[in-house]
Amino acid sequence: MPKTNKKVKLALNPLTISKMAKEAKKEFPYKTGKVEFFLMGKSKFVEYLENSYITKDYKEEYNKTPAFVAHLKKDKNMIVFCEEILDKLTKRLKDKDKIDFIKALTTHELFHIINKHSIENEYEALKSEEEVHEEFEEEFPEYKKILDKFS
Ligand SMILES: [Zn+2]
Repeated sequence: MPKTNKKVKLALNPLTISKMAKEAKKEFPYKTGKVEFFLMGKSKFVEYLENSYITKDYKEEYNKTPAFVAHLKKDKNMIVFCEEILDKLTKRLKDKDKIDFIKALTTHELFHIINKHSIENEYEALKSEEEVHEEFEEEFPEYKKILDKFS
């Protein structure tokens, strides 16, 4: 009988995603207040994106946008992930890289939370992205490298 060396692929199931997101939050060096993680199906997720103030060009790239921050209540933030988009984006990655991707993504969103921008138009949305990119580059260069591969 031939040996089977088949590697078991880590499925990015909801449990893995929230576990990794929580770990990233624990490692995040700034106070964020309460953050909840939430998974959303693709059609609903895209509907939210369509109603947000991101640029038109960006909207055409839903498949590269696997998470966003929702401010639902005062003092409570939510990071929303789309499992389907995440899965598609990371399907060729090794397990360890999948985990790093989720952590990098979560860390990026956590910067949005601490920056506390109120975004009321496309210009402000772009500005807030730029700001996160700068902070990210300075403090998490390794994570930035990971996310840059997908942008
Ligand atoms: Zn962002």
